[in-house]
Amino acid sequence: MDTIQYTLPQDRIPRAWYNILADLPRPMAPVLHPGTMKPIGPDDLAPLFPMSLILQEVSTERDIEIPGEVRQVYAQWRPSPLFRARRLEKALDTPAHMYYKYEGVGPAGSHKSNTAVPQAFYNKQEGTKRLTTETGAGQWGSALAMASAFFGLECKVYMVRVSYDQKPYRRALMEAFGASITASPSRETETGRAILAEHPHSNGSLGIAISEAVEMAAKDPHTKYALGSVLNHVLLHQTVIGLEAMEQMAMAGDEPDVVLGCTGGGSNFAGLAMPYVGRKIKGQCHARVVAVEPAACPSLTKGRFTYDFGDTGHLTPLVKMHTLGSTFVPPGIHAGGLRYHGMAPLVSHVMDLGLMEAITVHQLDAFAAGIQFARSEGIIPAPEANHAVAGAVREALRAKEEGKPRTILFSLSGHGHFDMQSYIDYQAGKLENYEYPAEEIAMALAGLPTVS
Ligand SMILES: *Cc1c(COP(=O)(O)O)cnc(C)c1O
Repeated sequence: MDTIQYTLPQDRIPRAWYNILADLPRPMAPVLHPGTMKPIGPDDLAPLFPMSLILQEVSTERDIEIPGEVRQVYAQWRPSPLFRARRLEKALDTPAHMYYKYEGVGPAGSHKSNTAVPQAFYNKQEGTKRLTTETGAGQWGSALAMASAFFGLECKVYMVRVSYDQKPYRRALMEAFGASITASPSRETETGRAILAEHPHSNGSLGIAISEAVEMAAKDPHTKYALGSVLNHVLLHQTVIGLEAMEQMAMAGDEPDVVLGCTGGGSNFAGLAMPYVGRKIKGQCHARVVAVEPAACPSLTKGRFTYDFGDTGHLTPLVKMHTLGSTFVPPGIHAGGLRYHGMAPLVSHVMDLGLMEAITVHQLDAFAAGIQFARSEGIIPAPEANHAVAGAVREALRAKEEGKPRTILFSLSGHGHFDMQSYIDYQAGKLENYEYPAEEIAMALAGLPTVS
């Protein structure tokens, strides 16, 4: 029988996260205080995050130990399986070997729990009572709600309005875990009230919801803020994906020629890819590393690599990243988790170093690939993950054209069981491609902060 699943025993859950900051040929640009334009220090972030996470954010230590309590929770779904997509290979009639690391096996259905659990753990350890956060499609909110329940924290989620209305089951899941959910923009915060005054029917965006969650955390000493992507410590926690995948690829006796993941804020992609990029820097890996982003929100391929705010209300520090402008509200594509104006500074930096590349996929092509994947592999991917599938299929078809073998590894970041409305709409022919919103992006970029 041909092997299709590579599983590791529980004691092979990684003991340390891999921090690529230790191996980068050039350090990242500093995070700046928006008032003074000077680099910020750990104390500046203390109102928002527990110190252990702030120290991880700036750490240049290569291996950061995973606490035993966190590994114990990970053990419920980790190590996650690596599959060889043999039926998909056959359907595509490709000489390529296609592997996917499946993160939908966690109880909340995506890779987000890999960082929700340690974030809740460190907050609990440092005395936090309540966490606030944003969520787009609801995957991050679900993961943090679950982790908060495990560690006895209250959890308050600002959910982007369009998703709040479109995805009532995600809301119900978060509430079942004990979280309280508010549609964003809301009347609870200054940012929310200001946006509603101007746009009473605003769809909301991740940038707006982040402002609301940050504002609430900054006002209350017992409340901290948790972010589901973008920051170094989040990407760090996700490296369990790539570290496990490396062992599993060794079991399969294959080495990837190309590693792909979809990118919203960059965390599942970085989780799979950064351990490979680390090997590339040391000359131990030849794989191309490819980020796949939506054509409607193309921060890496069309954005500017410069300092910008992480949120729309301009409450966060300035970070250097690929950005479409913090006031840009992306079109309402169904991959809600990819509707972010910026890209993780770490991913942006690795791109700038020439260690990776990026491509875009239109919404309809992403769903077509997702359906083909479902019919071959039996898993309905999340709309976000469909972008990675589309990128992998593109690579497999190119291998076929060239008549050359190629080993493809991609991240299947989550399942789409709570996103079936988007599949209903797709099958009914109701989804559309959005043109690249050039004018709105130009406007948002014109408002970038000036950093001398
Ligand atoms: C949130 C999410 C994404 C996008 O976020 P990243 O930080 O770029 O990974 C992608 N896929 C799924 C399933 C998600 O939940």
